[in-house]
Amino acid sequence: MFEKYETFLKDLDLKLQKYFEVDKDKIQCRKGCSNCCKNADFPLSLVEMKYLMQGFLKLDKSEHDKVRENIKKVIESGKENYDCPFLMNDLCSVYEYRPIICRVHGLAYLRTDGIVNLPECSISGLNYSKNYDGKTVNFEPINEDLNPIALRKNKKIDFGEVRSMIKWFGN
Ligand code: SF4
Repeated sequence: MFEKYETFLKDLDLKLQKYFEVDKDKIQCRKGCSNCCKNADFPLSLVEMKYLMQGFLKLDKSEHDKVRENIKKVIESGKENYDCPFLMNDLCSVYEYRPIICRVHGLAYLRTDGIVNLPECSISGLNYSKNYDGKTVNFEPINEDLNPIALRKNKKIDFGEVRSMIKWFGN
């Protein structure tokens, strides 16, 4: 069912691994840093959401309960930006199944419209913060549009509708 999407993810991960390696002197990503999993709206396509739920099904009961509780809290808060319900103790509980936006986050890249896309954490003293003073980008960004919108233009996969993650849960 997810054959094409898994092939796409495998290729994407290989490519991203190379990009993270190229920019390693500017990157501060590490296990336990969950900056990019908080206070965002996490736009996901239908395919990404269904795949994410495959990861959810692999969790145990206490983890299921925790994710459900997190989802309920986000829905009740009514906030457009929220902490990801799958984040547990600052780690992703569905890491292998995480959506595209989570995979590309952390890299600075050149979009097709000519804008340099910097990760949010660049303004929090993390990735690229030494190479970006809030105005000027003084490094060569990755020369590929890694925005999920651009990546989903892959002709082999019909990604379906895109919604904020929490909206897939009926909010
Ligand atoms: S799915 Fe995982 S990596 Fe993505 S925002 Fe949620 S906790 Fe973070």
